[in-house]
Formats: sequence, C-alpha cells, structure tokens
Amino acid sequence: MPTPTPLSRRQWLLTNGTALAGLALSTRFLNEEMRAQMTSERQTAVVPVRARLSLNENPLGPSALATEAMIRHLQAGRAARYPYAEAGELINLLAVREGVRPEQIVLGVGSGEILETVGLHIGLLKGEVVYATPGYLQMVRAVEAAGGRSVGVPVNARLEHDLDAMAAKAGAPNSIVYIANPHNPTGTMVEHEALRGFIREVAPRSLVFIDEAYLDFAADPVRRSVVDLVHAQENLVVARTFSKIYGLAGLRVGYGVMNARLAAKLRTYGLGTPNGPGIAAALASLRDEAYVPAMRARVGAERDRLLALLSRLGRKYAEPQTNFVFFHTGRPHKEVFDRMLAESVSIARAFPPLLDWARISLGTPEENELARSALEKVFAA
Ligand code: PLP
Repeated sequence: MPTPTPLSRRQWLLTNGTALAGLALSTRFLNEEMRAQMTSERQTAVVPVRARLSLNENPLGPSALATEAMIRHLQAGRAARYPYAEAGELINLLAVREGVRPEQIVLGVGSGEILETVGLHIGLLKGEVVYATPGYLQMVRAVEAAGGRSVGVPVNARLEHDLDAMAAKAGAPNSIVYIANPHNPTGTMVEHEALRGFIREVAPRSLVFIDEAYLDFAADPVRRSVVDLVHAQENLVVARTFSKIYGLAGLRVGYGVMNARLAAKLRTYGLGTPNGPGIAAALASLRDEAYVPAMRARVGAERDRLLALLSRLGRKYAEPQTNFVFFHTGRPHKEVFDRMLAESVSIARAFPPLLDWARISLGTPEENELARSALEKVFAA
C-alpha cells in the first residue's frame, strides 16, 4: 500500500487560513460554528495562521488504516458508484457496536446533519428546543429556521448543563431537549447517573437528544454513553461522529441512534448517505481497535500541558473532558482573540454570554507549543 503523499499546497492553504477565507463567498453553506468563526477572523487584521485551534478538529488523526481504506476505495474505482453497499456495511457494524437494530441507525453528512434534520423536524412541527447557554447552536438554528422556538438555559457555576433547570423547561408540545455531553464550548460533562435519571424523567414528555460528539475523549466513554437507554426510551436520540477523535472532520460522516420510527421519518427528509471514501474510512477506523485509546491518551497528555500552563498563569478553566479547553480570560474575549491571532494562533470565536472566556482546541504538538508560548505572552503579568 503506497503511503499517501503530502498535499503540500492544500496544507499551505489550510495553515494560512486562506482556505477558510476562500469560502467567504459561500458562508451560507457553513454551519453556525464556522460562520461565526470566519466573521470573527475577518474583523481582525489578516496574519498567517500557523495554529488553527478554533474548530475542535483532531489533526493527530486519522488512523493510518482509515487513510489506506480510502485510497483502496478510490483505487478500486468506487468513486464512480453510489455508496449504498458501503453505507449498509457501516450501519450493520454500528448496530452491532451500539447493540441496536440496523433500522435504528441513521447516517449523516457529519453528525451535524443529524442535529439539523432533527431540528428541522421539530421546527416544522412548530415545536421548541431547550438548550444550554453558552452552547453549540447547530440544532437550535435549524429549529428556529423551520419556524420553532428556542429556550436557552444558562449552564451552572461549574459550566455544566443545569439538568434541573432544563427539566423544568421541558415538555412543551413537540419539544426537544438538546444536551452535548461533553458540552461545547465548556468541555464539561454531567454526572453519569444524574444524566440517566434526567433522561428517564424527561423523555416521557419531550424528545431528548444527547450529542456524544466528544465522548471518546473522556475517561471511560463506553460506560458514560447513554446509548443503551435507547431500548427503554422511545424518545431518546444519541448522536456520534467520526469528525472528532477519529480525525475525519473533512470526510463528513456521523450517525444517530434512535427508535426505528423516528429514524424512518428522518430518512424522508433525505438524511442517510454520506460519501463513499468517508464511509470506507469510518469502517476502517472502527476496526482499528487500538486507535481510540491511544488517541485519547495523546490528546489527554496535550490537554494536561495546556491546563498546567493555565494554572501557572492564574487562569481558571472549566473541567475539560474534550480536545478543547474553555478558560477564563479575565478580559474581553476580543482582545485575547486578536492578540492570539497576532501570534499566528487562531482560537474560537466568542461564546455569549460568557464574553470573558475563551475556547482553544488542542492540535498537533507543534501547534500546541506555539499556542502555549502565545498564551504566556498574552497573559504575562
Ligand atoms: N456536535 C457538537 C457538540 C459539535 O461541536 C460539532 C462540531 O463541532 C458537531 C456536533 C458536528 O460535527 P460533525 O458534523 O462534524 O459531526
């Protein structure tokens, strides 16, 4: 199997931020997170970005087996064919892994497509989404765009979902409660038994959507997943993605696990077919048993280095279980964002209402080192 040759021009474009800037003409195709990121960067003087730590990607991935599988897929001429057979194979493998029937799995063009389609569904029913603020807004925006309402519930003092407050708001007709666990942007997780209790209490009166995009970065992810509750709870959707720990954000493959009736309904909106190379990579990633634990340890080591620095600089942070860290800047986000960008490090846009906090993703060791020295300069006493 030939080793993939480096795509140096593309890498140059990406590391310089030009690729994102080049997308400016088509921002309507971008999700909430990327659109907000680009707007923030455009408002700041353009400098070459050497560390893009703004979108919670995982540049340490993907698995070498995934890259080989994509190359094999293309060399076999599969790009000319619709990927239905491969999609069926991925659904079957995921069903075995998640302990559900294949009809309960819906693939998406990233898990974002699952979030948006469920949001569209709720919005078309003139329903309501209850979500945490600050939060990841992809589903919220879809609900609103389709004619539904949104109810933000502030995170608690530990910057975790406030489950009691969210339960109190849940239950309007056709409502959904959206919980990213771990959360974005704070990186925190809710206590496992409390979340299971919340699902049992709320699911009888509202759809509950648990977004586990970052779960594999957390300690003990299998035990902390709530996917097993899908058997007992008709009103539970769990979403996962290959974009985060698997390092396949560019391939756009994610999935949702839910009851078969809702899965069938979502397929009527056109959900369900990512691209062939992405599916080939996802299959190979799942079969690479050593990959996730090794990646979790590598990212965890980089996270520990960043947290040690933040502590030394006197910055408090939310307790992260993710490939990103949310820390207190003690000054306006914009000032920190601009100063980091001047040091060639792109951090995430602001997350209202916490405008003196900042989110920074973990990248390659070189990017993280650059980020740490930039933070030392910006926060030097
Ligand atoms: N859910 C959360 C919490 C996210 O942060 C993201 C992306 O950043 C997504 C879902 C969507 O990711 P993807 O569509 O790449 O699976």
